[in-house]
Amino acid sequence: AQSVVLITGCSSGIGLAMAVKLAKDPQQRFKVVATMRNLERRGPLEEAAGEELGQTLEIKQLDVCDAASIHACVESLPDRHIDVVVNNAGVGMIGPIECQSIEEMKAVFDTNFFGAVRVIKEVYPDMKKRRSGHIVVISSVMGLQGIMFNDVYTASKFAIEGFCESLVIQALKFNVFISLIEPGPVVTEFEAKLYEDAEHGDYSSTDPDTAEMFTNMYLNNSKVIFNSIGQSPEEIAEHLLKVLTAELPPFRHQTNAMYTPLTALKHIDPTGNMATDAFYKMVFQYDRVMKASLMCLKMLRWKAQKLNNGMK
Ligand code: NAD
Repeated sequence: AQSVVLITGCSSGIGLAMAVKLAKDPQQRFKVVATMRNLERRGPLEEAAGEELGQTLEIKQLDVCDAASIHACVESLPDRHIDVVVNNAGVGMIGPIECQSIEEMKAVFDTNFFGAVRVIKEVYPDMKKRRSGHIVVISSVMGLQGIMFNDVYTASKFAIEGFCESLVIQALKFNVFISLIEPGPVVTEFEAKLYEDAEHGDYSSTDPDTAEMFTNMYLNNSKVIFNSIGQSPEEIAEHLLKVLTAELPPFRHQTNAMYTPLTALKHIDPTGNMATDAFYKMVFQYDRVMKASLMCLKMLRWKAQKLNNGMK
């Protein structure tokens, strides 16, 4: 039988790509319930889904900030049956904390943390009853490691990571799996809109040094990072497929191997100094870090050459 997969936030980006990837599965293993807050924004998904629309993919309204809309959506499904739920809906927030109101910060948590929690509360009891189910959360490497000027966004992702890390033990007893997918930068509307808004922001409520650090250094460096190692939403969809079809679904799954050593630093050194020092140097002593990395590369190349010569 086909697995019913409900995904939140499918009008764009990663959600759209995941919905289409599963709906177009050559083995037709999935029946996708692609949900979005505003059905008027269904055009791009309908177009990308093509002939799968109405076959392996249906579109429904669901606002993760509105418990009634979540309930109505789940109630509209035959027997409320959902095998997999993918909590993808999310919002970003960057900038100096002095320029962000508590209300704005709460709104980020309402979507990224409470939004996922509302959805999980609606579907988890059914999954427990059936002794089967899979809860997936699109977290972030920022659910594992704080990044400068992403204070509140990172906190919201840490919150959902902590929630899942606690729930997973109970869930396993009911044969329900939980998986956190942790992408690094992904090139979507999310970051495009975030950076566009940030460029036109008003930073008069912070000191000039911090404003300069954000508008000049942070925004410029972020663009370089997104352009160089940013993944596509389709790549994240590939990773979702891997997680869903794994014999034993992983609890955590990073999509960008470049971030794994960085996120491991805090586990290597419980004082936290190693991670803080590495990030400080990366941000403020970029040139020195680059020189050190180049030296390492040269040394590795030299060693590889020696090895090759030895083998000849
Ligand atoms: P996106 O902005 O294209 O997608 C986010 C989607 O969530 C949008 O379709 C938006 O309409 C929807 N959404 C927002 N509030 C909602 C609500 N209340 N109810 C229902 N839907 C709502 O950005 P994206 O990059 O595709 O982001 C998807 C997820 O991936 C987010 O959780 C984000 O935190 C995470 N993520 C993104 C990146 C990145 O660099 N883009 C990196 C790591 C993790």
